[in-house]
Amino acid sequence: MSRVIGIDLGTTNSCVAVLENGQPTVIPNAGGYKTTPSMFAITPDGKRLVGHLAKRQAITNSKHTIFASKRLIGRRFDAPEVQRSIDLCPYDIVRGPNDDPRIEIGGKAFTCPEIGATILREMKRVAEEYLGEPVQEAVITVPAYFNDTQRQSTKDAGKIAGLDVLRIVNEPTAAAIAYGFNKQSEERIAVFDLGGGTFDISILEMSDGVIEVLATAGDTFLGGEDFDRRIVQYLLDQFQQQESIDLRGDAMALQRLKDAAEKAKCDLSGREQVEVNLPFIASDPDGPRHLSIQLDRQTLESLVSEVVNATLKTAEQCVRDSGLEAGDVEQVILVGGQTRMPLVQQAVADFFGKRAHKGVNPDEVVAVGAAIQAESLTSEEDSVLLLDVTPLSLGIATFGGHFAQLIERNTTVPVRKGHIFTTTRENQSAVKIRVLQGESDVAAENDLLGEFVLTGIRPANKGEPEIDVSFDIDANGIVSVSARDLATGKEQSITVNATGTLSDEEIQQIIEDQELYEVALKEGVE
Ligand code: AMP
Repeated sequence: MSRVIGIDLGTTNSCVAVLENGQPTVIPNAGGYKTTPSMFAITPDGKRLVGHLAKRQAITNSKHTIFASKRLIGRRFDAPEVQRSIDLCPYDIVRGPNDDPRIEIGGKAFTCPEIGATILREMKRVAEEYLGEPVQEAVITVPAYFNDTQRQSTKDAGKIAGLDVLRIVNEPTAAAIAYGFNKQSEERIAVFDLGGGTFDISILEMSDGVIEVLATAGDTFLGGEDFDRRIVQYLLDQFQQQESIDLRGDAMALQRLKDAAEKAKCDLSGREQVEVNLPFIASDPDGPRHLSIQLDRQTLESLVSEVVNATLKTAEQCVRDSGLEAGDVEQVILVGGQTRMPLVQQAVADFFGKRAHKGVNPDEVVAVGAAIQAESLTSEEDSVLLLDVTPLSLGIATFGGHFAQLIERNTTVPVRKGHIFTTTRENQSAVKIRVLQGESDVAAENDLLGEFVLTGIRPANKGEPEIDVSFDIDANGIVSVSARDLATGKEQSITVNATGTLSDEEIQQIIEDQELYEVALKEGVE
């Protein structure tokens, strides 16, 4: 039987793990690194690069190097997060035919699942090289706070990469699985996961091989990149003050600043002060200009305190939803590279009244949990029972633009809930149902997952027909809808046309295009 892998598809870095002789192993890439940058690039001569190779040439090829595409996946082009990315990213983000954001490089507009697939394919390749055999099946993790479209799009990315996605698992849950591996203790734990682009917090209860998520909360657009951006703004302001030169319009300078800001931030986790040095960052008639700015930990902390406070607000909501008090949590696990920052560690310790557990590697623990889950889904033996929750409420739009919740957030999945619909007009033969996910009472403020028209309702007085519409959330957190006319027992087959996701035909087309590209590469056409 071929091996199953666990992949943590991160905003900044990705990681792959496998179980070997019952022990989780993080697989290093060819360069010996256990994480691979989630970056994809096309060079001026048409070569496609992924991971470290893409990162290494980002400064000189910033317009054609894609990073942080996870921030765009499964969103609509008009979403505020996408509009913010358009302002911030050096690459071009354009509107796709499904109203989805696409990234234009090398004369082609790539869908976000396609970009995700390039990273997943690389992780698959890393695993295959290490294991010496082909790998077909994987568990892929997503932020707990991803909505249905984001999950569906990640699954599509897996399919495009040639993977059979056994399960989509929430990142903090995967971290808890890794923490609880081979432990018998009963514990309530909090997983605080602050990565490059997303923030999640989950409160879980573990006992006797059962891992139950009590509540989860998060923000899919908050992470280390927000820290970096604040540092970049600071450096831009300082440089402008010193040299009267505004670097904001210079794509190459901005990319260099972004890299330097991230490096300074990471260095300041271990030191009190650093110097940011960028020679030849600009030039004017008087000659070249060099950037040299001192940054100390205190200044950094004041620049990012707002972001750290935002994570604590979300943590408060999660604790409230779990029905516990912060002090009831016995173990705190930190996940994601950004939790290496002392200010973040201190804020979390103050919030829970205890310091975090030291035994897990925040960069690798999610992939390890995914690998354990992958193995347990394919092995015969008794394994962990995982009870996860849906992060967002699910419901429909009702008359007057209201949102009627059918499944509340933090409900254990899988779950199926029905609702009886009827007609409002005499002899009405069809009803339109808009499926929404989110927490606002106002329908328009939630994410529209899709809409469908239920037809063939038998002629009757208004209010008489009884149509049972069932909403399902599966173990991956993916939603589907079915409907039944109670009078006739006839089941209507309904597809929710998810907005922004790819159709099966589009996915097939992408896979075929890719195969052509690979053949072209092998034959040396490109
Ligand atoms: P992840 O998505 O988990 O790979 O986290 C990546 C984020 O963690 C990036 O924003 C990194 O800049 C940040 N990060 C990594 N190491 C450190 C560190 N030592 N101190 C502060 N931030 C870090």
